Amino acid sequence: MSARRRELAVALVATGDELVEGRHVDTNSAEIARELLAVGFEPRRFTVLGDDEDGLVHALLELAAGHGAIVITGGLGPTLDDVTRHAVARAAGVALARDEGVLAGLRERFARRGRPFAEANTRQALFPAGAEVLPNANGTAAGFAIPVAGALVVALPGPPREMRPMLAELVVPRLVARVADLPCVERRAFHLFGLPESAFADAAGAWMERGANPLVGVTASGGRLSVTLRAEAATRAAARELADARAAEVRARFASWIFSEDEPDLAAVLGRELIARGVSVTLAESCTGGLAAERLTRVPGISAVFGTGFVTYADEAKTRLLGVEPALLAAHGAVSAPVAAAMARGAARHCGARLAVAITGIAGPGGGSPEKPVGLVHFGVSVDGVVSTEERRFLDLGRDLVRDFAASTAFDLLRKALCGLAPAR
Ligand code: ATP
Repeated sequence: MSARRRELAVALVATGDELVEGRHVDTNSAEIARELLAVGFEPRRFTVLGDDEDGLVHALLELAAGHGAIVITGGLGPTLDDVTRHAVARAAGVALARDEGVLAGLRERFARRGRPFAEANTRQALFPAGAEVLPNANGTAAGFAIPVAGALVVALPGPPREMRPMLAELVVPRLVARVADLPCVERRAFHLFGLPESAFADAAGAWMERGANPLVGVTASGGRLSVTLRAEAATRAAARELADARAAEVRARFASWIFSEDEPDLAAVLGRELIARGVSVTLAESCTGGLAAERLTRVPGISAVFGTGFVTYADEAKTRLLGVEPALLAAHGAVSAPVAAAMARGAARHCGARLAVAITGIAGPGGGSPEKPVGLVHFGVSVDGVVSTEERRFLDLGRDLVRDFAASTAFDLLRKALCGLAPAR
């Protein structure tokens, strides 16, 4: 590994029996990694350990060989299972030394609150000799920083509300100051719906190669892809130029799937756009049972454009509330394009809405057949009275996911319909 790569590489260590026993999840490391990535470092390793002094000494020495900085959270409390200060001192080859200023501060803090000062609390004034103390304005556990085998080891308290301000105010500036010519990083994000991850990877091609700059990353969830670009350069302007150029190419190549560049929630994007354009909407839901209405009504201010939604689960309800002909239901079945179209038409007519979407499908686990398998969903879309239909065959990943995909697809269809709509009448 080159000296430069090592200088930029950071490792995150989280300690605590509650973490390795699965009672708590290590969120600190992820948060710290994001912050350090944003200023040009390269987070390379997460290590989670119990309250194990020997294990921590061993991990620190191993990590120090390949990382310029190691940030540890947790294990700075006053009890015997808080081993971080002892482990770091051993790894650094120094003794623990009491900081009289910190001790006086602790005594004063306890006195101010009228609480007795337990002997155990003096442990929190012990630091590896030569360490720089990092004050904690929100708790009793001060942090510290000290070099170990050429890497800067920083120890921070575990509670996120204590760790967070110390990271921003004390740690990031110190790490940045240690490294000459830290690269400038510019990030861009895109949120896409309806494109499989593998199809994205094929279309993105070499953009996703590990050494590419900008580096393109993608994560999938609920039919949505979140694509990030991370451009690095010596100056902010050059990084921005790289990021903007690739962002323009991403927009051109994936235009029909991108629904947002900031907001990852499709319902929120749709809701805000409906409100902004003053376009009324209604929903006719069968297999989603109100899920789409629930998600849409999370958007503040949506009442301006959404007044009525229909949950028409039974055939009889489709007829009574939406005017779907019994003969149509008998001829095609409730899960069919003609019924989806009739539901959308009926819903739009009943509420006078410019846009309507209907959702009728087979969420499973039962009810599927070879012609109409679980995961089949028909959609009807009414735009100013003109009705079209769409069919999707979602993978049978369970009732919840089929319903979730169906609601999201309905929003995507509405969003696309809205894009093609004339300005508000
Ligand atoms: P203090 O003495 O101020 O509590 P500490 O450094 O001793 O600080 P810990 O005792 O290790 O901190 O953890 C205290 C609490 O902080 C945990 O119970 C947990 O709620 C939270 N915490 C610790 N580590 C993490 C982590 N890696 N991610 C998220 N939360 C954490």
